[in-house]
Amino acid sequence: MKNRFEGLLSIACALLLAGLLLAPAPAYAKKLNVITSTTDMAALAQEVGGDKISVESIAKGYQDPHFVEAKPSFLLKLRNADLLISVGLQLEIGWLPPLITQSGNPRIQPGAGGYLDASQFAQILDIPTGPVSRAMGDVHPLGNPHYWLDPDNGRRLARGIAGKLAEMDPADQAYFQQRLQDFEKRLADAEKRWESGMAPFRGRKIVTYHNSWPNFARHFGLNVAGFVEPRPGIPPSPGHTVELISMMKRENVKVLIMEPYFDSKTPNSIGAATGAKVLILTPSVGGEKEITDYFKLFDYDIGLLTQAFRATQ
Ligand SMILES: [Zn+2]
Repeated sequence: MKNRFEGLLSIACALLLAGLLLAPAPAYAKKLNVITSTTDMAALAQEVGGDKISVESIAKGYQDPHFVEAKPSFLLKLRNADLLISVGLQLEIGWLPPLITQSGNPRIQPGAGGYLDASQFAQILDIPTGPVSRAMGDVHPLGNPHYWLDPDNGRRLARGIAGKLAEMDPADQAYFQQRLQDFEKRLADAEKRWESGMAPFRGRKIVTYHNSWPNFARHFGLNVAGFVEPRPGIPPSPGHTVELISMMKRENVKVLIMEPYFDSKTPNSIGAATGAKVLILTPSVGGEKEITDYFKLFDYDIGLLTQAFRATQ
């Protein structure tokens, strides 16, 4: 039985092989295999790469990108990747470096041609000026890695990624350039829409759970007055929460933003004590089912945010 099955299997393999040899080279054979650490990088790569690349993110959009559980399937994806795009600035320091090493794929090791740290293209905020110590919490010592939440950085990232794709696949350079131009045009139109939606709320104060929104706040003229975390990456403490509540009352902060993957217990009690609206915004593409691309990410977050601002005038 086993032998017969193996016999059939080898016939099937031979047929498959013959088919591959005889058939004209399929279009997908040329596709660059791109793996990204997060969905936002995948969304931007997809915008400029179109059907000349296949792209997949390791982290899901609803996961905390600081903490992603390494799965064996990730190793297989990384082993076959031509290009790995990471957010960088140590966002993925807890999980990505060991995966890259263990993948054994020389193309995507840091410093190799298939490793792209996208932070080099972005405008980076919160770069510490003094020495960084453990007492400051789980602070990102190279600057804030949540930079994709400024659409101007989205444009810079798309340009950088398009350049990298053209370098790896020079035959399709014109295609990537065309895709980039189209993306930039659609982004410029969307930015007008987003900015006019947010314009009435310039200067509004918000509190955020983690320091994930400085680029977003800067772009849209919001004022981040404080954080639910006492220090980055450190869970809420009663003492800090009491201080935060009195600051929010004093400063009249009426909107608190948290990511879907944090515990809502403390934000909800802060909301109850201050009358602030607790808003769950997703920082990443794929954080909600309908957020299928970079544009829908801003559409979704800005939609909820402007609604909350209007309700708390
Ligand atoms: Zn962070």
